[in-house]
Amino acid sequence: MCNHEVPQPTAEKSGRPAPKPTGPHTVIKNVTVFDGTELLEETWDVELNEGKIQRVTVSKSGEHIDGAVEIVDGTGRYLIPGLIDSHIHITDIEKTLSGLGMFGVTTGLDMGCFNEATLRDARGINGRADTRSAGYSATVAQSTHHKLLRMPDASLVNNVDEDDWVAQRVQGGSDYIKLIADMPIGPSQDKLNKLVDAANRVNKLSVVHAVNAQSYHMAVASKCSVLTHAPLDTTIPQSLVTTIHAQNQVCVPTLVFMHMQAHSLLVTAVDTITRHFRRSYTPAAESVRAMFQAGVPIFVGTDCHGDLGPLAPKYGLAVHEEMKLLCDPDVGMPPTQVLQSATSLPATFFGLHDRGSIKPGFRADIVLLDANPVENIQNSRRINKIWINGVPHPLAKTGLISADQTSSNDSSWFSWVFKPN
Ligand SMILES: [Zn+2]
Repeated sequence: MCNHEVPQPTAEKSGRPAPKPTGPHTVIKNVTVFDGTELLEETWDVELNEGKIQRVTVSKSGEHIDGAVEIVDGTGRYLIPGLIDSHIHITDIEKTLSGLGMFGVTTGLDMGCFNEATLRDARGINGRADTRSAGYSATVAQSTHHKLLRMPDASLVNNVDEDDWVAQRVQGGSDYIKLIADMPIGPSQDKLNKLVDAANRVNKLSVVHAVNAQSYHMAVASKCSVLTHAPLDTTIPQSLVTTIHAQNQVCVPTLVFMHMQAHSLLVTAVDTITRHFRRSYTPAAESVRAMFQAGVPIFVGTDCHGDLGPLAPKYGLAVHEEMKLLCDPDVGMPPTQVLQSATSLPATFFGLHDRGSIKPGFRADIVLLDANPVENIQNSRRINKIWINGVPHPLAKTGLISADQTSSNDSSWFSWVFKPN
């Protein structure tokens, strides 16, 4: 008998002592605030102390704040919560954390790592981007992922007891469970269902990778918590969208990586030789649009994976590109909802209740922008200053990110392929 209940997110348990905050007692004065839900009226003084947001009060010009060591003038500027990337892969810890942090991405959720032993080394470092991880993701022998990415044997679920496999992940430090619905060789529908059930039994969210319509059907049928990626072959039917919504499933479409694959001459050449289906961006965008319009929560994620493959979105920067793609007319999400999808919504869903909002008591993970991101989502790139856990980030990419880094036209994407990470 299968128990297909979607588990409720659990409270955060990092297993590590909280990092000791070192950031100075800071006040950002007279700033416009997007608090994780909406752009607040009036201007605000936001006080940071001991790594937390201490106070958020309506600005009163000239008022002295006792004990503040650093005063930052926020006049004409916009404060948003640190961004959350709901789909990364941690390869090199240093590259991952610095890449995320310098672009204001203060939390990265790893969706399948290659060395479970290092999971805890990548989280809770003072002043650095924080992470959570799925640990090893589930696949079967000879699947595309197993062959191309040389996934560890611990990922193989061919002949394992599903409860034992999930228990091993939990013991290894996994915060949620990741399954890969690969085609044509991958876990069967029965195997996916049993793994999702096993995750539910230990109150872990389950995330299923699906990149075409068939694997989307399988992922939906498994009743997993999160569908990740978007179909590159066919737009999913409205009936499936209705089921996704009814089952309270959420989607992390990673459009930035879908777009990159669909526009890569390299990928097209390989697909032609291997007779893989021809990848197209249109069904991915149309499917996300349909899910969003039906009320399915869409979270910002990028599938950044360092130099693991020839196509690689850049840590941190790709979050800004993903937000732009979600706002583009073919998907049509309003900037306010995209900002929620990169802050408060994933924080709540993944049980990270200490972040994602600008409210007293929350982690002082915040980004100061020179322009209004609600007016134009591309203003998320106009970074003035970043604090992580109250600590000013020394490598923040300030100023307008140059056009060649932000453009999503074909030649730019193609040039990214050959850029060292
Ligand atoms: Zn991935």
